[in-house]
Formats: sequence, C-alpha cells, structure tokens
Amino acid sequence: MDRTCELCGRKLGEEETRYVVRIEVMADVSPVLDDRLSKEEVEAAIADLLEKLTRLARPEIEAEVYQEMVYVLCPACRKVFAADPFSSRTLLQ
Ligand SMILES: [Zn+2]
Repeated sequence: MDRTCELCGRKLGEEETRYVVRIEVMADVSPVLDDRLSKEEVEAAIADLLEKLTRLARPEIEAEVYQEMVYVLCPACRKVFAADPFSSRTLLQ
C-alpha cells in the first residue's frame, strides 16, 4: 500500500506510523428483510428494487449498492480526520 498521506501529500517513512481509513458505503436494504412485512410486501419490495437496478448501468449499480474507499493518513492528518470526518477538510474534496 502507498505510504503517501491522502490529505497532506507527505510521503511517510518506513518506520513512521500510518493510518488506514477504510470507508464502506452500502445500501441499507434491511426493510426488504423486515420480519414484520408480509410475504407479498417483501416480494413487492424486492421486485421494486430489482426494477430500479435494471434501469442503471452496471458500474452505477455497484456504486449504488456498495462502495469501498481506502486511504492512508499520517498521524497528524489522522487527528484532523478523526475529529471531524465530514468537514470540508476531509477526503471527500
Ligand atoms: Zn498527512
């Protein structure tokens, strides 16, 4: 794995601690699996989901359902990221 900090761009030395930020973004389809739904409701929900997915191109389907991002941070940038992961100074820029 690369040893360059994603935020500040600094190359980390071999002995230096690096931090790995692994972000998983996934569609929450738990309502489809809700025990309280009737069999017909579950089937309708699955059919609806499949219908929506067939309208998307394959890369879009994958991004809609599951996306994983991995970043390397230096110790200083780890502190900044951990303090406020969704700030304007995060990896999302
Ligand atoms: Zn950094």
